[in-house]
Amino acid sequence: MDEATKVRDPVCGMEVDPVTAPVSLQWEGQTYYFCCEHCMRRFLQDRQGK
Ligand SMILES: [Zn+2]
Repeated sequence: MDEATKVRDPVCGMEVDPVTAPVSLQWEGQTYYFCCEHCMRRFLQDRQGK
């Protein structure tokens, strides 16, 4: 079994590997992974901006 644990970038929906994900973020006790910094910024904007 070599199924890698993949998670989804919540912004663009792309699958990312937590081990190699370039960007990760701790948010309200959860860790999110993103394919790029751009997606992380959008994630934060969605939650912080009105
Ligand atoms: Zn992305």
